[in-house]
Amino acid sequence: MKETLCIGALRAESGTKANGYYTVPKTLHRIPVTMINGEQDGKTVLITSGIHGGEYPGIQTAIELAQELSPAEVRGAVILLHPVNTQAFLQGVASVIPEDGENLNRVFPGTMGGTITHKTAFSITRDFHSIADFYIDLHGGDVNELVMPYVYYPGIAQQEVSALARECACVTACSYVVRSVATGGAFNSAAANGVPSLLIERGGSGLWSGEEVQAYKYDVRNILKKLGVLPGAPVLPEQPPKEITTAFYIDAEADGCWYPLVKVGQTVEKGACLGVIRDFFGKTLREYFAPEKAVVLYMTVTLGIEAGTSLIALGQID
Ligand SMILES: [Zn+2]
Repeated sequence: MKETLCIGALRAESGTKANGYYTVPKTLHRIPVTMINGEQDGKTVLITSGIHGGEYPGIQTAIELAQELSPAEVRGAVILLHPVNTQAFLQGVASVIPEDGENLNRVFPGTMGGTITHKTAFSITRDFHSIADFYIDLHGGDVNELVMPYVYYPGIAQQEVSALARECACVTACSYVVRSVATGGAFNSAAANGVPSLLIERGGSGLWSGEEVQAYKYDVRNILKKLGVLPGAPVLPEQPPKEITTAFYIDAEADGCWYPLVKVGQTVEKGACLGVIRDFFGKTLREYFAPEKAVVLYMTVTLGIEAGTSLIALGQID
């Protein structure tokens, strides 16, 4: 008989599913959690969604998987947080936790004594990352963004952590697998602590569709099969993802109106103009150009843009 899974006040006996709210200690912040504890031993997989509360395809995917996955089919355990940032989710707020205006994905591993955002990161690190053998963080384009379906794996973690994460990224139906060299973010923070982890991106613009959720569930189920948590072999996509090892992240350098000249998923040649920021009177403030031949992984799609915020991301194509 496997051990009972206990997190905060939540308990799932071996062979059962349990759900309820996890309260971030010393706050009123409650996160809906579902734990599926299989009877047989296996890996514990943590799935978070809605670290950014306006990224709906990943959130609906986690909500559906929480209802669909059964302890009879799970070997090991699956723990889903759906969503983490409930306040932003309910209010349709992009990027931050509304109470303190901070971006949760930028403060991992967090601190016990900080703002609600820091406490949330700290609690997820201590209570969830610490018991995970593998971690999948479901994102999407935020309310103001659109993304290609792509998946990041941690590129500067221990070699075996990075290698297992990359292998699992390659069984998704995402268009691109991107090596992350960042140290920030929940998934990189977990990877630095030895947990192989992925961040998946799909959709955006404050929208979600059944097709996106189906594709997202296909990715997650394939990863769970690859890890032996669900039975059977992964059903490999017809088009395996292409690999990107170098990405470029361009931030806006001026407040103004953003006029992109490219679309998400488009391949651009080196030197191609990506878009222009103009002031309210039509004067050009900044122009942006592709540093190399690349694919547009994501970009801001709102007309208004603030200096210092993310404008566009490109993946270099050799
Ligand atoms: Zn996100």
